[in-house]
Amino acid sequence: MATFTVPTKFIGMDSAHMSLAQFLQLQSEGWKMASHTVNHLNLPTLTLEEADFVLSESRRKLIELGFKVDNFVHPNGGYNNDIIKLTKNYRLLME
Ligand SMILES: [Zn+2]
Repeated sequence: MATFTVPTKFIGMDSAHMSLAQFLQLQSEGWKMASHTVNHLNLPTLTLEEADFVLSESRRKLIELGFKVDNFVHPNGGYNNDIIKLTKNYRLLME
């Protein structure tokens, strides 16, 4: 099965986005949720503190909503050496 991913801010945000129930349905069908930060900002453009927040908060929120989260996908594929070090703490996957 495939992995799906969404910045937590966008879950059920409006009718153009999938609802929480729809995402949970995918998971129940065997899809895997990967963390994708809170707001889809390109990580290298943030301070390390901000990057750490959008990573940890998105993971926390997804778990709170009922997802199993083992992976991470970089928004826009953006990373640098500092971000790689940071994402290692979250057991994370490159886009
Ligand atoms: Zn993306």
